[in-house]
Amino acid sequence: LNGAALRQLRNLQYLAIGLLIAGLGCFVPAAGIVRTGSASTGWLWWGAWLLAASGGVGVAAAWSTRCDIRRMARSLRAEAGSEWLEPIDPGSTSLFKLAEAINEVISIAQRTVADAQVQVKSYAIQLKVATAERQHAEAIIKSISDAVLVTSRFDELVLANDSAAKAFDFDLKTAHRTPVDRLLHDPRLVEMIRDMRQSRSVNGRRVIEHDMDMPGGERTYMVTLSGVADSAGEPGGVVAVLHDMTREKEVAQMKNDFVSNVSHELRTPLASIKAYVEMLIDGEADDEHTKAEFYEIIHGESNRLGRLIDNILNISRIESGLVKINKQPQSLSVIAKEAVDVIGPQAKLKRISIVEQLCPVFYQTPADKDMLYQAVLNILSNSVKYTPDGGQITVQTTVDEAGKKLFLRIIDTGVGIPPKDLPHVFDKFYRVEANNKMAKGTGLGLSLVKHIVETVHGGEAIVTSEVGKGTTFTFELDLHE
Ligand code: ADP
Repeated sequence: LNGAALRQLRNLQYLAIGLLIAGLGCFVPAAGIVRTGSASTGWLWWGAWLLAASGGVGVAAAWSTRCDIRRMARSLRAEAGSEWLEPIDPGSTSLFKLAEAINEVISIAQRTVADAQVQVKSYAIQLKVATAERQHAEAIIKSISDAVLVTSRFDELVLANDSAAKAFDFDLKTAHRTPVDRLLHDPRLVEMIRDMRQSRSVNGRRVIEHDMDMPGGERTYMVTLSGVADSAGEPGGVVAVLHDMTREKEVAQMKNDFVSNVSHELRTPLASIKAYVEMLIDGEADDEHTKAEFYEIIHGESNRLGRLIDNILNISRIESGLVKINKQPQSLSVIAKEAVDVIGPQAKLKRISIVEQLCPVFYQTPADKDMLYQAVLNILSNSVKYTPDGGQITVQTTVDEAGKKLFLRIIDTGVGIPPKDLPHVFDKFYRVEANNKMAKGTGLGLSLVKHIVETVHGGEAIVTSEVGKGTTFTFELDLHE
């Protein structure tokens, strides 16, 4: 209620009081006339009329004010739930100024609410943009295959991705705000993060190669540390990106080993060929028998060189994915039979019997026949090489219809492979020292077998062996339906 409205109410009150006083004033002459004995009742009537009028004006003012206030209250109450308060219609109200004042307050309130709503909308948009940006950044961090850790100025974890959680074996949900020294069980890495933060560099970057003892064994990481600024632009936390280089290092090492092994393996037969050719040129083989012996050695060594080069080429073609693969449903029994027929004469020379236990030819596997044949031949030829005279080789094909698998087993009664060598026989150039005297070889045959069975056909090549008793090679391949 502002002053104007109160003034209006007061005016009505003054009018009622004025009438009241005038009414009472009429009684004064009336009382004198009564005392003097005059029988005039005119003043009395005026007094009574004015008193009644004053009462009437008072009651009417009170009643109209009450009605107006009630109406305004009713309309305010009706509007209370709505977003906008409609201005009050002052109509013929006696509280015109009061209604005006209330309307002014309403319009000021409406303007304030409108301003606030605009501000709320702008904050909501800003919040949405900030949330989207944060989600975007989180999605990028989470999609990175390298381990990413973001720490605060207090060296607590504020963000990490699945790769980091997996590598350091922590739970992403509970790790938030955990001090890094409790999460990363590598004091050197924790120290690196701390050092980076203490350097207070905002755009600085450090790249450090670091070996770590991880839950799955030792691994080599390329750790990239970057300082990040907080919202005020002050140096805050640190972003650490850990790139696992273990495999890359292994591959680099394997390449080095491969090159040195290849050159070594090629040089051995070449040196032998060269030596015997030189002896022949120098006329050191004077009789036909010695000459024939030299020719035989040169022939054998050049064959070995040829096999070695073929194997190296085949392996590198498969490894690089350059080899053309032609897969058709093939019977393992047919392939095994063809290989047995080829190897038969060699086995016969050593009086090794070959037992065939072959399942029906309609059990087939999707295979590149030439490649699978090469793998079976390599295993069979090894079995003949490493089985002493008079031994036995069993060639078996079986089917597991429920498991949708076909199996080929080549079981020999040969010298066997010592347990320490078993995990390595499929490695390139690996030869079992204990069996070296039994046969010459390149150490590449089984590596090629593993590539053909596992890389090309998605199967599994397994070896079991017992020294002095024999060796079993098993191929597990998919059954063609
Ligand atoms: P290699 O050309 O030397 O035979 P492989 O890769 O074919 O090369 O075989 C690797 C090594 O595994 C061989 O040197 C041999 O010592 C061992 N080996 C393979 N097959 C047999 C087997 N059936 N019995 C015993 N030893 C075997």
